[in-house]
Amino acid sequence: MLIDGHGRVVNYLRVSVTQRCNFRCRYCMPSTPFNWTPKENLLSFEELFLFIKVCIDEGVNKIRITGGEPLLRKDLPKFISMIHEYKPDIDLAITTNGYMLKSYAKALKNAGLKRINMSLDTLKNDKARFMAQKSVLNEVLTGFEEALEVGLKVKLNTVALKGFNDDEILNLLEFAKFRGCQIRFIEYMENQHAKDELKGLKSDEILNIIAQKYNFTKAEKLPSAPASLYKLDDGYTFGIIDPHKHDFCKSCNRIRLSAEGFLIPCLYFEDAMSIKKAVQSGDILGASEILRQVLKNKPEKNKWEADATNVTSARAFYQTGG
Ligand code: SAM
Ligand code: SF4
Repeated sequence: MLIDGHGRVVNYLRVSVTQRCNFRCRYCMPSTPFNWTPKENLLSFEELFLFIKVCIDEGVNKIRITGGEPLLRKDLPKFISMIHEYKPDIDLAITTNGYMLKSYAKALKNAGLKRINMSLDTLKNDKARFMAQKSVLNEVLTGFEEALEVGLKVKLNTVALKGFNDDEILNLLEFAKFRGCQIRFIEYMENQHAKDELKGLKSDEILNIIAQKYNFTKAEKLPSAPASLYKLDDGYTFGIIDPHKHDFCKSCNRIRLSAEGFLIPCLYFEDAMSIKKAVQSGDILGASEILRQVLKNKPEKNKWEADATNVTSARAFYQTGG
């Protein structure tokens, strides 16, 4: 079992397989040119897998593959099947913008993937084009249907923004409900990369909109799960991820691995340690030692919380793996 320096059990690894993305969401990476070819110096799947095996052997039982857009990484299904075959009962999921799911859903399912989280901020073409700075909605919705068709369990993630999708909160909820998927509304996290004009809806504002049409009650959730859950009278459950209100740090169970091999104990790069040399030389003991060191260094509270009076984090989600 992995325990950090503050007594928290860490059983969840988030792996970013690329910083790149085919969208330019205004709240995430709005200004990066589309022809951006960063010298990413990515770890290979074999190198990432070596470290993942170390983590699994030490007690990690939940892994999420993310990015950037993870489906841009060539042969992602092969990587999924490497992990799945090593530990078939692991809770293995990906987070995707859905744009390429039409082509990949079946292969991902066959590789052993069971769950995906898919981002969906709007059901309107012009708004989706505005937010992603590219015409994306048709592909995203086709990808979503394909994922359901092949039997993947899908959760939807919606960043709730004033003047953008506050008029669609109920539509999005009903869209998800009708298809038997949980939707989680995410409070916008201010950061220095995002467009200045964006203003997020806070959890109470989202709940007020839903209360105009539905009764709901608070539902049980795992302490380590970031989303607060609410149940409608008919039993349908939706979630809200509200970092402005909740301190997730006390029950934090996760660490993050970047595509370049930085093991990140929290939302910031500063404390990260590189596993690159260890995995490139097949040094399992060395990798395991770095894992323990990073857990020891895991801060009690994240810096974003500490900066709450002046909430403009330097962190972009695509860098540490959102
Ligand atoms: N590209 C994939 C996607 O969009 O689902 C995976 C990576 S993305 C960085 C992961 C999640 O972070 C998405 O659900 C996205 O909406 C969320 N996200 C990105 N920037 C955010 C911000 N500033 N505030 C809140 N959520 C954000
Ligand atoms: Fe890409 Fe996801 Fe960031 Fe949007 S939120 S720019 S889809 S990484």
